[in-house]
Amino acid sequence: MKAIRVAEFGGPEVLKITEVPDPKPGNGEVVVRMKAIGVNPADTYMRSGNYAIKPALPYTPGADGAGTIESIGAGVTRFKAGDRVYIAGSLTGAYAELSLCDSRLVFPLPSHVSFAQGAAMHIPYATAYRALFHRAQACAGESVLIHGASGGVGIAAVQLARARGLYVVGTAGSERGKKLVTDEGAHQVLDHKAPAHFDEAMASTGGRGFDVIVEMLSNVNLARDLTILAKHGRVVVVGSRGTIEIDPRNTMTRDAAILGMSLWNATLDDLVSIHAALVAGLENKTLRPVIQEEIPLAEAPRAHVAVMESGSHGKIILIP
Ligand code: NAP
Repeated sequence: MKAIRVAEFGGPEVLKITEVPDPKPGNGEVVVRMKAIGVNPADTYMRSGNYAIKPALPYTPGADGAGTIESIGAGVTRFKAGDRVYIAGSLTGAYAELSLCDSRLVFPLPSHVSFAQGAAMHIPYATAYRALFHRAQACAGESVLIHGASGGVGIAAVQLARARGLYVVGTAGSERGKKLVTDEGAHQVLDHKAPAHFDEAMASTGGRGFDVIVEMLSNVNLARDLTILAKHGRVVVVGSRGTIEIDPRNTMTRDAAILGMSLWNATLDDLVSIHAALVAGLENKTLRPVIQEEIPLAEAPRAHVAVMESGSHGKIILIP
């Protein structure tokens, strides 16, 4: 089969399409024929070699994708060959024609959901769910600022929070992104490139502040986020690409919490529970992943450039 292999850490050009042996399923495993593969910012950090997770070389990148069950290992009863599924992690890497998976982290894809949408489920939606409901414990009736709502995690967070009954404010950095965030259910949308957007966000809560902020670029926004939190407010640090100075007094006066969150820390039980909720959301159509661009697998380097560009309006997907 064809797969993208990384033989040395570096820029997007180290992603090379290569012929490798087909994977075979062991006990409790399945092989999925990939029809669409999700590209996440973390794939680029890992490829660069400057990330907390440094795979042994050579490796095939990717954790997200969707396709059909190709073959089944001993003890697997949940699936049969041909079933439509999406994956939440891969044992051999998702950027490939075939992917070996732990069957406990493979989930049914409803017939009305496209493979590209299935490939947008795991890292973006599971991250948004865990940030909102496991870490921030967001409740119906609370207010949430999705700071960076136009990308994969942001759109997921808008849909999840709206479906749960929160008051949702989202931000984007382009007109197209702002329209998307509105279309996906935010009550109000703001431009995170406009310095006044913090004041506008605060005004949208009637001056009370947000119960929850889901933050995609903490190194830029965290200090001012703390000034627009309500009493007992929680900021979840989902994304950060550098350092920032904060005034700790802004947490003290509000009994506020800054909560770190990494999807890699979720246990198997957490992930199985999260995906049960996500599959239900796909089935009842409150979750509708949005695709920005589909790119052929062989052009993975272009996908790694695209996923890091601003002006997001959905997910970057690779097609094998
Ligand atoms: P993405 O699809 O590339 O989206 C990036 C988002 O950040 C876009 O909405 C972008 O908006 C927004 N953004 C740009 N400048 C911003 C600013 N000044 N303030 C607020 N938001 C801004 O990436 P993603 O998959 O959604 O991931 C978002 C971040 O979370 C990334 O840093 C990623 O590494 C991280 N992440 C963390 C975890 C975890 O477990 N902690 C899991 C998944 C992702 P515009 O393009 O419209 O400007």
